[in-house]
Amino acid sequence: MGDPLLAIEDLAVAFPTGRRGEMARVVDGVWLTLNRGETMGIVGESGSGKSLTALSVLRLVPEPGRIVKGRIALEGQDLLALPEKALRHVRGGRIAMVFQDPMTSLNPVFTVGEQIAEAVRAHRGLRGRAAWAEAVNALRRVHIALPERRARQYPHELSGGMRQRVMIAIALACRPDVLLADEPTTALDVTVQAQIVALIGELRRDTGMAVVLITHDLGVVAETCDRVLVLYAGQVMEQADVHTLFAAPRHPYTQALLASLPETAPDDAARLPFIAGQPPSAAQAPTGCPFRPRCPKAMPGICEKPLPTTTLAPGHVVRCHLYPAEDKGT
Ligand code: SF4
Repeated sequence: MGDPLLAIEDLAVAFPTGRRGEMARVVDGVWLTLNRGETMGIVGESGSGKSLTALSVLRLVPEPGRIVKGRIALEGQDLLALPEKALRHVRGGRIAMVFQDPMTSLNPVFTVGEQIAEAVRAHRGLRGRAAWAEAVNALRRVHIALPERRARQYPHELSGGMRQRVMIAIALACRPDVLLADEPTTALDVTVQAQIVALIGELRRDTGMAVVLITHDLGVVAETCDRVLVLYAGQVMEQADVHTLFAAPRHPYTQALLASLPETAPDDAARLPFIAGQPPSAAQAPTGCPFRPRCPKAMPGICEKPLPTTTLAPGHVVRCHLYPAEDKGT
């Protein structure tokens, strides 16, 4: 077997705590592999390290944060070791990113057509009319009506849903191998959310790109993802294919997330449900399992110890003392 399209190994991202040179890990030991055409969902509460994991792939961790450990490889090529100039071709080229709020990512002083054409020029070498034609095409592909006219408009002239489509059009105009979509629908109303999710799925099928979908919304995960990574306080709690995760979650945190999920989740009721207590901040994470203070199954004297990583079945990994590393049963 060749290299996976994208592989993250033992990633750690740290920020200064404010105490004399001390750094706290807000992402700690995260790993995932992604194959062509696959969609990997990353779920977790705010501050669980979902976005920082995605930003790490493009080396865009905001200052003063730093990647302090790990390897991120695109078809075997180590992105963390790549010179900045070479990485710029990967960013927006082979790996594209769509953020939650398109207003902060679109430039208000250029038309949307110019912004797409610029991406096409930078990454595909097309010029002049050819770049413009490709920009219009990209708008058509994301189902924007009257794309020639819309291409000449500025971001503030478009609705939120349309701006998000423009962001996806920019991302896809460069025909990326990987799309990192960070809460791409959160700011949108429910109907538009469903349209955007369907659109990403359609484009994935058409182009064979792989998608990393970061979301609070378990309903979206169930509908669109092949595999799921559950993060808590910057650490992997469970990773499984989507059917296994929903049918037989093994980690108490995953179980808590799913237990309060309505069977037929209307509208936004499928967002991460309430679990009593708060996730710890990185600087105050307890020793051993970070979920310990909120876990109904916590075992005193055991869960303070470093977490084992247990493969329960091929592709189903859990990190919890209920499943000691030598236990291979399901
Ligand atoms: Fe709960 Fe212990 Fe498992 Fe953590 S390790 S999830 S505290 S049972």
